Amino acid sequence: MVKTAKKAASFRQTVLLDNSAIAELLAGEAEQANGQLRQALRRAARTAFLWEDEAYDLAAAGKSLTELEGIGPFLERRIQQWLEKTPPLVSPPEIRDDFLTLARARRILLNHPNFAEALQGDLHTHTCWSDGTGTVGEMAIAAKSRSYHYLAITDHTKALKIAHGLSEERLLDQGKEVASVNAVLAEKDVDLVILRSAEVNLTPLGEADLEPSALCGLDLVIGSFHSALRRTEDQTTRYLAALRNPAIHILGHPQGRIFNYREGLRADWARVFAEAARLDKAVEIDAYPDRQDLKLGLLRLALKEGTRISLGTDAHHTWQLAFMDFALAAALLAGFQKDRIVNFMSLQDLRSWSSKRRECFSGGRYHR
Ligand SMILES: [Zn+2]
Ligand SMILES: [Zn+2]
Repeated sequence: MVKTAKKAASFRQTVLLDNSAIAELLAGEAEQANGQLRQALRRAARTAFLWEDEAYDLAAAGKSLTELEGIGPFLERRIQQWLEKTPPLVSPPEIRDDFLTLARARRILLNHPNFAEALQGDLHTHTCWSDGTGTVGEMAIAAKSRSYHYLAITDHTKALKIAHGLSEERLLDQGKEVASVNAVLAEKDVDLVILRSAEVNLTPLGEADLEPSALCGLDLVIGSFHSALRRTEDQTTRYLAALRNPAIHILGHPQGRIFNYREGLRADWARVFAEAARLDKAVEIDAYPDRQDLKLGLLRLALKEGTRISLGTDAHHTWQLAFMDFALAAALLAGFQKDRIVNFMSLQDLRSWSSKRRECFSGGRYHR
């Protein structure tokens, strides 16, 4: 009891009522509410992470908080009350802990202007070939407008039926479209290359759902778990198996957490990161705002173990390439230098890293 009170008190002293604190208050109120109000509070809590401005800045400028997405007159009054008289704050439970708001991420990046500028590309994006909405060409235009030099198209693969995952045949067809987009980019002298890639669905045993021969032809492969994500027992074995799968370069959204929905898997993370470092494979910061996976606490551990990281927005629409700010800010906060982040490699170095990871994986067969 005393310990909890102390924790709350120190939290109150160190945390301003920023969007993150407001999100937690909204989520906390949702837990006491029912029906539509509960839904509205939960939705607003989630949306607060995407507000570009701090609510306190809007209020100080005399602007209406209804300018913020998800906030109507009722919630505006509630937030204004909190801003005028700070209510008791508690640190968020695990299921909502360690998420950055966009407003905070942008402040962090403003203090490190050279960091984002040096970014070469996004390594986790979806198109209408699986469950995204943009075509390969539209994603290329969006990547060009962000001055990227490469963009990995990482659509889902066949076991993820709900996301229209690609079979070996459709992945080949997509490759032809990627090649034709690359030909247009080269013809127009645009310094951007679309990488053929995939977000391969991994079984809990770390096995991929596509034939090795199909994965051999790709520039880069992300392996992600999309099932059995609510297991509470230690999952170290499945992570080690995934990393040791010769087809995989990057472990996608490793924890499998979702804001206010799922905590993600447990593992001996130091051991997982050490194995990734030994194999020189990367673990991801999935920048999708609800995911932000790996979380900051684990990123610091990955840094200590010497593990490479890869940044990906997991964009399902062209505009979502902007989510990259969450990953960049998290990498900065965790203390990563550019040389440990795959996305700061030149295209040539990226290809060389990728092909070296495949020395044991040639001719469409696995060699151990
Ligand atoms: Zn995924
Ligand atoms: Zn994805």
